Amino acid sequence: MKHALITGGAGFIGSHLAETLIARDYRVTVVDDESTGSAENLAAVRDHFNFSFVNGTVADKSLVRRLVSDVDEVYHLAAAVGVQLISTAPIHTIETNIYPTELILSELLRRKRDGYSVKLFLASSSEVYGKNPKPLWNEDDDLVFGPTTRPRWSYGASKAIDEFLALAYWRQHRLPIVIGRFFNVVGPRQTGRYGMVLPRFIEAALAGRPLTVHDDGSQVRCFAHVNDVVRSFLELMDTDSAVAGVFNIGSDQPVSILQLAKQVIAAVDPRLTVVFQSYAEAYDADFEDVRSRIPDLSRLRRTIKYRPEYQLDGIIREVVEQTRARLRRGISG
Ligand code: UDP
Repeated sequence: MKHALITGGAGFIGSHLAETLIARDYRVTVVDDESTGSAENLAAVRDHFNFSFVNGTVADKSLVRRLVSDVDEVYHLAAAVGVQLISTAPIHTIETNIYPTELILSELLRRKRDGYSVKLFLASSSEVYGKNPKPLWNEDDDLVFGPTTRPRWSYGASKAIDEFLALAYWRQHRLPIVIGRFFNVVGPRQTGRYGMVLPRFIEAALAGRPLTVHDDGSQVRCFAHVNDVVRSFLELMDTDSAVAGVFNIGSDQPVSILQLAKQVIAAVDPRLTVVFQSYAEAYDADFEDVRSRIPDLSRLRRTIKYRPEYQLDGIIREVVEQTRARLRRGISG
């Protein structure tokens, strides 16, 4: 039986990963400091005999050493998330995204020197492309960041450092790593608390409030269901040719944010309305958005059998139902 460590496993994506691995007969250890995740997300697996939860931070060296000492795979998902959090807590973002990755890689190298090669999946982000003006982004494209005076870019830059570092451990020490750049991931249990648009729209709609669309809503994103995303990176981890590779992971079906709002309204209550808000009001005067974000998924399709099972309409219906049920149980945001 394989033993996997999931950092950030109480978060939205990590908790779905934990469920999938348990269903695949893995032993799973989750480490999470519950800063943005919540142990509640792990309700479906927490009593399983193959599951353990450690409340702690991956910035703690002795804890990381102990946790990686008997695992076969590490999924490093712990990170500062959400554009809103990034603009309000930039120090936290940079520190949380860089130091723990360094620590995990150096502890995995220690294990490799002891004769055991542990594969690492590094969760990166489409934010590493910054505001590259190309209509489709492929993994060899340039990273185009704005100035350091705008905190938003610190997130992409910190994730880019993580990628450089992981690739350097491969190059210098042949430590097996796989890097996934997640595009907008959505699905049950994602909270709107850190700024993510779909849960925010759905929470507003269910409360009978207007949906707040930033700017004119013509900015474009592609939304992928978390189950499709988890399946994709698990398949990458099982594919030898994916080692040392960087992969876009997500959906390549674009939708404008205004169109997304209209689809949520159609799913919840056609009488609901939209209000427009400037970026300056929503974030701060320095905020700069990424106007269009669409992945080129050719590399992913060449490497694994990528067959997304979910379409946006179905995802919206599922998240609406799940949010309704959560509100009925009295669990907020
Ligand atoms: N957005 C919006 N209303 C909200 C939250 C976000 O219009 O309540 C917009 C946001 O400005 C961005 C897009 O939706 O253009 C996606 O934002 P999110 O934070 O979900 O992800 P991003 O792709 O920016 O990382």
